[in-house]
Amino acid sequence: MRIYFEQITEDGKKFSLSKSFSVDDTEYIVDVFEGLIYPAGEGFLLDAKLKLRINDNCDRCLERFEEAFEERVTVEIVKRDNEAEESVELTDEDVGFYIVEESAVDLDHILMQESVLLRPFKRVCSEECRGICSGCGANLNVETCKCKPDVDDRWKALADFMQKDKNK
Ligand SMILES: [Zn+2]
Ligand SMILES: [Zn+2]
Repeated sequence: MRIYFEQITEDGKKFSLSKSFSVDDTEYIVDVFEGLIYPAGEGFLLDAKLKLRINDNCDRCLERFEEAFEERVTVEIVKRDNEAEESVELTDEDVGFYIVEESAVDLDHILMQESVLLRPFKRVCSEECRGICSGCGANLNVETCKCKPDVDDRWKALADFMQKDKNK
């Protein structure tokens, strides 16, 4: 969805869209991206609610899982004219920047950029996720480790040994 700057009045222009896209193995399902773009200083400010689900693999157990996020997103849209090219200063770390060189802003692009930024660096399906066994590769959330019987056998051998010793 493109919004032309000439469509944006002093009161701002409302928008609402949804979109799904993938980056590598990560799926982003944006259910709600709605808000307002209004003139601010030399450019525009976008203020929106972003509701999405991120679907990818857990870093610990490698299983696919989905997590929901909801975030208020503020993006400053800066029009770049040739003279002011080098002087875009980041003043507020919480406010995203989006620089356009045309007469319109592509909301899909902002939606994608902000969605990808929301993805946590570490993706864990749950704080309690027990991951996979480095020995046998068993998913410890759903099955018991296949390395265990070996340990049990050893204990059993020792128990048998003790038993034999006692019977002497
Ligand atoms: Zn997991
Ligand atoms: Zn194991």
